[in-house]
Amino acid sequence: MSGFALTEEEKREGEAAMARAAQDGVHCLAIPTPFQVGRVNAYLIEDEPLTLIDSGPNSAKALDELERALAARGHAIEDLEMLVISHQHIDHFGLASILARRSGAEVAALSGLDGYLGSFREQAELDDVFAEETMLRHGLPADVVSALRAVSASFRAWGSTVEVTRTLRDGEQLRLRERTLTVLHRPGHSPSDTLFWDERRSQAFVADHLIRHISSNPLLARPLGAGRDFTGPRPQALVTYMASMEATRAMDLDLVLPGHGRPIVDHRPLIDLRLRTHARRAERMYGLIAEHPRTAHEVAHELWGNVAVTQAYLTLSEVLGHMDVLMNAGRVEEQEQDGVVRFAAV
Ligand SMILES: [Zn+2]
Repeated sequence: MSGFALTEEEKREGEAAMARAAQDGVHCLAIPTPFQVGRVNAYLIEDEPLTLIDSGPNSAKALDELERALAARGHAIEDLEMLVISHQHIDHFGLASILARRSGAEVAALSGLDGYLGSFREQAELDDVFAEETMLRHGLPADVVSALRAVSASFRAWGSTVEVTRTLRDGEQLRLRERTLTVLHRPGHSPSDTLFWDERRSQAFVADHLIRHISSNPLLARPLGAGRDFTGPRPQALVTYMASMEATRAMDLDLVLPGHGRPIVDHRPLIDLRLRTHARRAERMYGLIAEHPRTAHEVAHELWGNVAVTQAYLTLSEVLGHMDVLMNAGRVEEQEQDGVVRFAAV
């Protein structure tokens, strides 16, 4: 997960851009999470309706800090009129049910994400079943898989079920009094990643689609709406993500507001860096496969060694993403034996 250090000038540019956005009613509220990623950015839009994009996880600490951040702007949770949810990860939507209950705010999310949020416990369970099958199929030891299952179950408390009252379609316009946000479905980091684009101001709220200081993981996930009986084909998260990044690269944007870390004022070089990094990584992985067939887990182990249990699914997703790229190019093929897949050079 490659970093990208900020220069002092870039920091200043980012802060100046945020100050301009604030004059226009957009405020970044960094909410604590218990996860390795650190704080998550919720965005308050002082407009009509009074809108919050993402909420932070379902924890007393997150609620407390959000409440204080709103109060610093002269608002209470009860004043919120619309909650917009960017994607299906718990650090972004966990608090939404409490906020919706207390404020009566409309809850807006992409069509497909509505079903996920409305039955979060079942969906999280299905995600775990999918992840478990994927990990075993790609060579992760059974003890690691069951440890990860326990971790995932304990994380679930930071999510919550929330009823979406306004379903959004890709390309639809979400109208506030002073601005119009175009809804753009840009999957890859997750199946439900949604950007909210203020075309007139050349601004976009992008959540985890693009982050400045870390590269977003193209997490392999069950397709939205797929049930327990889902049998594939395996979704191509990285291939999907790269196409989504290309689409965002083509946009003229002065300010990109991410779900973690600092604002992005130069999205094109950042996207180019991400695409180059992925291309280089695919070649390194191809080199390992060309030596002899390996499982995705073996490739991950060669590249990153013994990673923490919590990182095992991330690194597996990363390898599988690159295997998809190489298979689509006709350079690598899957060989399955006793339910375990090895990748081999063609
Ligand atoms: Zn995310």
